[in-house]
Parts: sequence; C-alpha cells; structure tokens
Amino acid sequence: MDKYLERLKKGALKLYALEKEVPAPEAIRIRRAFIEGETGVQLPMLGSFTMDPSSAVTRNIENMVGAVQVPVGVAGPLRVKGEHADGSFWVPLATTEGALVASVNRGCGAITRAGGADVRILRNGMTRAPVFSTRDILHARAVKEYVDANRDALAAAAAETTSHGELTGAMTFVTGTTVHVRLEFDTKDAMGMNMVTIASERIADLIEEKTGARLVALSGNLCTDKKPAAVNGILGRGKTVVAGVFLPDALVSEVFKTDARTIAEVNYRKNLLGSARAGSLGFNAHAANVIAGIFIACGQDAAHVVEGSGAFTTVEAQEGGVYVAVTLPALQLGTVGGGTGLGTQRECLSLLGVAGGGTPPGANARKFAEIAGAAVLAGELSLLGALGAGHLARAHKALGRGRKG
Ligand code: NAP
Repeated sequence: MDKYLERLKKGALKLYALEKEVPAPEAIRIRRAFIEGETGVQLPMLGSFTMDPSSAVTRNIENMVGAVQVPVGVAGPLRVKGEHADGSFWVPLATTEGALVASVNRGCGAITRAGGADVRILRNGMTRAPVFSTRDILHARAVKEYVDANRDALAAAAAETTSHGELTGAMTFVTGTTVHVRLEFDTKDAMGMNMVTIASERIADLIEEKTGARLVALSGNLCTDKKPAAVNGILGRGKTVVAGVFLPDALVSEVFKTDARTIAEVNYRKNLLGSARAGSLGFNAHAANVIAGIFIACGQDAAHVVEGSGAFTTVEAQEGGVYVAVTLPALQLGTVGGGTGLGTQRECLSLLGVAGGGTPPGANARKFAEIAGAAVLAGELSLLGALGAGHLARAHKALGRGRKG
C-alpha cells in the first residue's frame, strides 16, 4: 500500500491507473486511502460494499473508491395486465424520500383491488442523432434525400456493429446548412445508448462517404439524450408506454378517502393547467419519483429520469368511477448492459422476473417497461388521492420526518 501511496503523491502513478498494477479490490482500497490522506476525511462506509469491484471497474466506473448505499423498499403486489408483464409484482424502489414507497404502495393496492392496470407499449426506439455540416442548402437537401432513399444501406452498416440492434428509423432535420439525422433502433433488451452510438458512428461514416457531408458530432442533441426536450415527448424515445385503470367510486372513497370528481379536479387544475402555465414538458404529479426509484434499484442510467419522467397523467370521471391513465413517451430502460449486471441491481431485476436477456430478445425489457408504467400509475393515483383528501403534508410529517406508524 505505502509504495503506491508514495508514487501517487509524487505523481509518478496516476490515480486512474491503479487497476493496471493491482487487482480491482486493492486498487480501490489504495485509492480510497490516498483520498483519505489528501483530504483528512475517513471513508469507511464508502469502502463497505457487496458488489463485485472487478466487474464494476471494467464497465461501470472509473477512479472507484467505494459505493453509496440507497435504501430499497418494495411496493406491491401490483397487478399488471400487459402484453409482456401479466401478473402481480413487488416493485423495488431505491429512495431516501420517506413516504414515497408508502404512497406508491397505496396506489398499487388500489390498482390491484380494481383488477389490475392495463399497460401497452405504443412505440419502441432508442435514438442517436449525428449532426452534419453541408456546403449549402442544396447540399443539405441532397443529404436528406440520400438518407430517405438508402434506409437499407444504413441498416446494413449498423448491422455490422451489433447482433441485437436493428435500425428502425432515420429522420432528417435540415436547418440551413446543418443536417441532423435522428437514427432510431430497436435495441431489444438493452437500453441501448452504447449500442446505438456505435452503430450510428458506422452509419455516419457511410453518410459522409456517400454525400460529402462532414460529421460535426456523433451526438447532435436532437437525440435527445439526458436533456429535457419536446422532441422525445412528441416522437418518443426508448419505450412509449401507456397504463390505465378504472377505479369504482367505492374503492376511491375507501382507499383515498376522497371521490372521483375531486381526483379529476386536482388532476385538471394541477397536472394539466399548473404544468401548462409552468411550461413543463411533462404534465404529471411525480412520475420522476417512481422512475428514479426503479431506475436506481434496477441498475438503469439514472440520468434518463430526465426523459422518462416527461409523463402525462389523465383523469376522467366516468359512470360509477374514474379512469386514470399515464402516458410515458420516453421510458429508456434495459435488462442487459449498463448497471444491470451489478449484484444488488440484478437482484432487483430478478424480483420482477426480468434479469438478463429475454426470450425472444427484447421480451424482458418490454416486460420491465410495462411494470414501470404501472408503477408510475400507482404513484400518480396515490399522490392525486392524497392531495384530493388534503393528506399530503400529513403523510410526509408522519413518514418523512423520522417517525413511522
Ligand atoms: P451495453 O452495456 O453497452 O451493452 C449492451 C450489449 O449487450 C448490446 O450491444 C448487445 O451486444 C449485448 N446483448 C446481449 N444480449 C442482449 C439482448 N438480449 N438484447 C440486447 N442486447 C444484448 O449497454 P447499452 O444498453 O448499449 O448502453 C447502456 C450504457 O450506455 C449505460 O451504461 C449508459 O450509462 C451508457 N450511456 C452511453 C451513452 C453513449 O453515448 N455511449 C450515452 C448515455 C448512456 P450486440 O450489440 O453485440 O448485439
């Protein structure tokens, strides 16, 4: 240990290069000791974890010094009536927000007692949008025409880089001399960002070669990855999921201590009008809470909460009850790749029966998306109910301030 600390101090060894000299667990210990020495802050908790560091340092993290723990709770059972997820599920949520799991749990109870949530995937396609520079607008139009006329050649180029991914769309956006090509892929069970970035590079090479356009950036922000953007809500990104349930009046009153009209009014004045006046990209109560909880528990890319939470919650008072639905245009998730192989995250995916590749490929990610959609519906229902009954602050006081029960 000491000789490495000495070399690190002198700058003779780079902090990030430790794994080249010693196995990952030791590299992490040395790096942590170095940081402790440099800062005078002891990090024993950070250094205490169960994940396999050798796997983490090769695919998930650089300069690893330890792991942060986030408590995981379960909400459920949640009855889901999807095309891929058909059954009852215990949904793992990783969060530090007291009252969140209790709230989603209550929504799960209402949905399950109502017979379950219908869930469907409306669209499926992960996107990457390289941006090209052209000479003039005539050249820009020619690039668009090449892309439109040569979809098969683009798909064949992509297929050279991946055995699972398939090009399913290529949409061009011309702005003066700039051309964005929004490429869309079926990524099967992978969330797919690495997969589509690699495939897009091959396609971009082909476009450059065939059109003379110059690739400026492989990601031109019209993808749009990890930034709030209307394009994802309009065209979809990842999986576009819709979940809905009809709750009879008696159930609304028993579970939420309010009525259908009140829930519909809260949704209209808060989720629809409030969000519209605020210029929100999603019109919902707290979809991000549920998406973040599931994503962190299940090894998803947490930054995709940005797009995933752009959900629309709709509530309609109907004869004898209320129909509540959520529409999630851009839910990006996967059951292979990224953080899905880490020990605890994989256990959470296993809890939902979706760890690893599905049969056929893509089935697990679709099942996972349907469960996530139903869980968001549970969260929306519960919060709308709590607001309708005037219980929101009460629940947070009881469950989020250190006292339970
Ligand atoms: P990945 O970890 O790169 O690996 C996914 C690979 O798994 C696929 O490419 C595929 O290989 C293979 N695979 C095996 N069984 C599969 C199945 N049943 N379905 C689909 N693929 C299967 O994962 P990724 O989802 O492409 O990328 C996720 C990672 O990208 C996350 O860590 C995320 O943080 C990161 N990310 C990257 C960027 C970027 O610009 N590169 C941006 C945002 C996030 P084949 O392709 O050979 O078939």
